[in-house]
Amino acid sequence: MSLIPKSHPRAKSLLIREKLVKGFDNGLVAKEGLLAQGRGEAFDYLLGEKTSKTATQAIKAAAAQLLVAEMPVISVNGNIAALCPKQVVKLSKQIKAKLEVNLFYSNEKRKMSIIKTLKKNGANEILGAKTTSSKKLPGIDSARRIVDKDGIFVADVVVVPLEDGDRTMALRKAGKIVITFDLNPFSRTSQTANITIVDNVTRAINLLIDESKKLSKKNQKSLQKIIDDFDNKKNIRENIIQIKNNLDRRAKIA
Ligand code: ATP
Ligand code: MG
Repeated sequence: MSLIPKSHPRAKSLLIREKLVKGFDNGLVAKEGLLAQGRGEAFDYLLGEKTSKTATQAIKAAAAQLLVAEMPVISVNGNIAALCPKQVVKLSKQIKAKLEVNLFYSNEKRKMSIIKTLKKNGANEILGAKTTSSKKLPGIDSARRIVDKDGIFVADVVVVPLEDGDRTMALRKAGKIVITFDLNPFSRTSQTANITIVDNVTRAINLLIDESKKLSKKNQKSLQKIIDDFDNKKNIRENIIQIKNNLDRRAKIA
């Protein structure tokens, strides 16, 4: 049971934090995952803890990209399994993407807990478990480059929420189209991905599910137009301007 009163002005954000701490206690989240959450919270605060218009545009482009993909894969780490396991499974079904557990801080026990959580939330097949099916991505140091030979290794589009910059760069180098959720528009992942959704994954993932459902009625040509019209660099710049404007506003009333 949560100790956070619903009337608290930042109740939603504090509930997200509580989920992460619970995930840590249950062996899903690494210590480093808690630190990543802290970094995310700081940026969420600066962004006003709500989905911006720019994030909505990135979500639409991401939905179109996932619908035209031949072999989309969603990479799941401990933070995602703790924050939104149900939604990640729902998204994978909606866009017919495979799920692959991929940990920055690799640990078999944690991997098994994540798989168990995803299964409990309706996932059928989860890749990334068997060492026999692993392959190595080039251009990245050993532990972080292991991917599943039937998953990320052969994927054309990879969703990597809350991912480290080195891995994102390696995925791009391997020719993958990368979609990320990252609250920090300055992170290397944000700046390297093809489509960067600068929003809290817990908010944005529901919007991505809805948008994918909506766009699934469109033909390939209109989906491709949405992708071509989207400019990720411009979108990130707009997110940064938003942070600046929020700071200016706060500075005036301080
Ligand atoms: P990079 O390696 O890309 O330069 P980093 O080392 O600062 O970034 P990582 O720990 O590698 O950070 O990646 C985690 C990223 O996820 C961070 O940029 C953090 O802001 C972001 N993040 C944390 N929690 C959330 C969340 N709930 N929703 C979206 N993004 C989040
Ligand atoms: Mg990093």
